Amino acid sequence: MEISQQQNESAGQSASGRSNRKTPLIIAGPCSAETPEQVMQAASALALDHRVDYFRAGVWKPRTTPDSFQGIGTPALQWLQEVREKTGLKVTTEVGSPKHVEEALKAGIDMLWIGARTVSNPFVIQEIADALRGSDVPVLVKNPLSPDIDLWEGAINRMVRAGIKEVGAIHRGFFWWGKSIMRNQPFWHIPLELRRRMPGLLLINDPSHIAGKRDLISQLAHRAMEHDFSGLMVEVHPEPDNAWSDAAQQLTPRNFLSLMDELFGIAPESSHTTLLNELRAEVDSMDEMLVWALSVRMELAGKIAEVKKEAGLNSLQTGRWQEVLENVKTLGARSGMDPVFVEKVYNYIHRQSLNLQNGVLKSNDAQTKKEPNFVL
Ligand code: PEP
Ligand code: MN
Repeated sequence: MEISQQQNESAGQSASGRSNRKTPLIIAGPCSAETPEQVMQAASALALDHRVDYFRAGVWKPRTTPDSFQGIGTPALQWLQEVREKTGLKVTTEVGSPKHVEEALKAGIDMLWIGARTVSNPFVIQEIADALRGSDVPVLVKNPLSPDIDLWEGAINRMVRAGIKEVGAIHRGFFWWGKSIMRNQPFWHIPLELRRRMPGLLLINDPSHIAGKRDLISQLAHRAMEHDFSGLMVEVHPEPDNAWSDAAQQLTPRNFLSLMDELFGIAPESSHTTLLNELRAEVDSMDEMLVWALSVRMELAGKIAEVKKEAGLNSLQTGRWQEVLENVKTLGARSGMDPVFVEKVYNYIHRQSLNLQNGVLKSNDAQTKKEPNFVL
């Protein structure tokens, strides 16, 4: 199946056109190509489902540490060729350098994707775009690690300007420094804004790299479909627990097929319950972030109290408090929130912060100024 698209070259800009596909584009396969047997086992299972369009397997792996499995490299391209011959599935792999592009094109790989770490580097992206010039291979560009929409859009435009006719985007979530139940934060508004900027963009969701663990994949995939994504890229391994990379997030072929049925089969009776659970899981994830942000804020308030103690200042600094309040009310209004609600929430936070600071100030000697404790 083609990822056919119309190209939009308007205003000298280049936005890839969206396929008018009725069915979503499905890309599935293991994180990494490990052995010829593992690759063929995964592919044979996936080929049983006519909804799978492309078989994925990483040949060159962008791993965080040099001690991890770095991928088999060029020899594994032949395993992908065998998959295509024996199963009829099209094949796709990640490229991260002009050398990878050269090898993958030589091996006739049907589609390429560019990984999140690579997209963060415009020099490399330009080199890859130059290496792809003149080929007609479709290219999917993952979002960069940081939630930087311009960098993502820029990488896509570099591909289109190099004359690549079929360019799409993969949303794989964004690195988040706080605690979260997910490996990467979805920040759904970013891919949706990208699609707004590039009307008709072929936009694929990769729930595996967002979730980081298999039990969250289904809810993310459902969300992506609700947001009208053009398709999914899902990691599937014959024995996920023994995978050489991303073991926690890969699905067995059986679980993947159930996911496909759940998403595209007959709607289950309890679709409301499913949706409710998905939305609640997202709320839980936001609550984790909120509580984490509050705890960091309180820690900072404690440090500020130490400075105030040294300087002989009161915990309550009215001018500063007004400034904080105005700032959050403006931010709230910008996000469509009622300023009265924002003010109430911040009054609570501020009181707690003052209580904490008063504790620090009181712990000093007799010179310390006393502040009454607020009761929440
Ligand atoms: C992958 O798809 O296996 C991969 C390495 O993805 P990402 O670039 O999203 O981390
Ligand atoms: Mn992976």
